Amino acid sequence: MSDVIKLLPESIANQIAAGEVVQRPASVAKELIENAVDAGASEITLIVKDAGKSLVQVVDNGNGMSETDARMSFERHATSKIRKSEDLFLIKTMGFRGEALASISAVAQVEMKTKLSNDEIGTLLQINGSQFLGQNNVSCKQGTSMTVKNLFFNVPARRNFLKSNPVELRHIMDEFHRLALASPDIAYTFYQNDIEVFKLKPSKLSQRIVGLFGKNYREQLVPCNEETEEISLKGYIGKADFVKKSRGEQFFFVNNRFIKSNYLNHAVVSAYEGLIPEGTFPFFVLFIEIDPKHIDVNVHPTKTEIKFDDERSIYSLVKTSVRKALGTFNITPALDFNTDANFRLHTTLRQTSELSTSERDYTQFKNTDRDISNLKNWEQLYAGALGNETIEAEVRREEAEKGNPLALTFGSDVNKMDEAIQHDGDSQKQNIFQFHLSYIVTPVKSGLMIIDQQSAHERIYFEKYLRILENNNGSSQQLLFPETLDLNPSDYSLVKELEKEIRGVGFAFEHFGENAIVINGIPSLIKVDSGKSIFMGVMEDYKKNFLEYKNSSLENLARSMATNSGVKKGKRLTIEEMKSIIDQLFACKNPNYSPNGQLIYYILGLEKIEELFKN
Ligand code: ADP
Ligand code: MG
Repeated sequence: MSDVIKLLPESIANQIAAGEVVQRPASVAKELIENAVDAGASEITLIVKDAGKSLVQVVDNGNGMSETDARMSFERHATSKIRKSEDLFLIKTMGFRGEALASISAVAQVEMKTKLSNDEIGTLLQINGSQFLGQNNVSCKQGTSMTVKNLFFNVPARRNFLKSNPVELRHIMDEFHRLALASPDIAYTFYQNDIEVFKLKPSKLSQRIVGLFGKNYREQLVPCNEETEEISLKGYIGKADFVKKSRGEQFFFVNNRFIKSNYLNHAVVSAYEGLIPEGTFPFFVLFIEIDPKHIDVNVHPTKTEIKFDDERSIYSLVKTSVRKALGTFNITPALDFNTDANFRLHTTLRQTSELSTSERDYTQFKNTDRDISNLKNWEQLYAGALGNETIEAEVRREEAEKGNPLALTFGSDVNKMDEAIQHDGDSQKQNIFQFHLSYIVTPVKSGLMIIDQQSAHERIYFEKYLRILENNNGSSQQLLFPETLDLNPSDYSLVKELEKEIRGVGFAFEHFGENAIVINGIPSLIKVDSGKSIFMGVMEDYKKNFLEYKNSSLENLARSMATNSGVKKGKRLTIEEMKSIIDQLFACKNPNYSPNGQLIYYILGLEKIEELFKN
């Protein structure tokens, strides 16, 4: 048998390597901007069309390249940035593997124009899927312009794998945020489909944050600075009452390189412990400077992962400095957890002894901790004498009477509940009642049906909104007072992207200057009077769902609308309302689970009930 092993042709090898470096249009944007930064540019323009699927272009005013370098730059492992293996550990530039241009040009149609500052004439170079098409002289400005068209035109499987435009645009936006934060001294402009999304002047970090995320961030930033002999940490964190429902706005940079590290994120978040409700995420942009010899950035080709030789001391540095920053600025959460019934109290996890005195001064939960420990003492004192539940109920009632609803699960309405049931004679006849202001209970043939009111309502609304969106026939109720809403540029572009759908569902709004809208009307199904909060809630959930479920924008919008307009736990329902929920629920296509996958109802079978009473 003859020899069968052959070396892969260069173009295929490049295509395979491209799989690692180029996952989607956002990776192209990232690599090109990084090259521009490395080339010393002071102005960078990013232009994308169709969320980068048809075009990603980056124009810089950096050093540019000579004719030979221009050609060389597309070769694999061609880099001007490291010469020997030791350099790998002393990396100051963003790129260093010399893979990006070779990979991108293997899977797209690339055109490069570049000129050195002292040269009269520049170079134009064209490559299609690793195929060199030609090189010419061209007159152009100093710097480099890279145009990447029709990504994956020659790899249909990967092209089909790309997500919808809003999803791909979101990824580009994420990369843009990271790069623009890492280099606030560089001016950035960003166009999507000829619309200018960002125009950022060179500025300080705080101004860059405001430029990227919106004016309302101005009052929310707390500086965080710490320096030891080995490491320095600086940046900004968000105040505790400025938390978001999605994890998006958390940034760590090590030697100016954006990194993902659950470990370090944990360090920050744990510094907020007790100050923010569960399931919410603080804002932060933190830069760690460390001697490159203590890190290894060559762990992953996309270079967002990093290894430290002493992770633990970095963890504790981060945690203490964030705590200190929160403490120094004497930040008390404006959210009043004591009265907000929708937030589940999570303070039981925290013991008073864990807190230093200074911490206690700025923690609102001082009282909570004490109350919870009181509860424990009570339990111990009476353990065995009464059933624990009774004691707990007693304590809760007492707390409620003192006007302190802390120990209650869903606000002080709870102790009125029993009363309501007893006095509502109708409910007896109807065989239906509300339990714990959260569940609807009704006997059915096979047992006792318990319905989670919140999940049920979310399901009902989800299907309603989906129908409305599909038929594009949402009706709107006029707001008494139109409300202006300032958005950050990326939320604003999301609104524009979804404009048709948002209007379709029943929001009436107008564009109002730069990144702002005026809300005139909200969907008729919603029973609130603030357009702003519901709009923001829907957008926040949309972003969160988008990351979690990655489904179509219609479904996502319907889901976000449903979670924001449905009946919540803790809301008292009339018999009529309960009956209507049951009727509507069982008219749904899928009455079993909420759009977020939560079980909606459970039937406590007669047999199970009978079993309880058998010895
Ligand atoms: P790396 O950035 O890892 O070195 P790339 O494939 O991204 O690898 O780029 C290869 C080389 O091309 C770079 O090392 C640099 O010398 C040159 N280059 C790429 N983009 C630019 C640019 N915008 N301006 C100047 N030089 C560039
Ligand atoms: Mg590079």
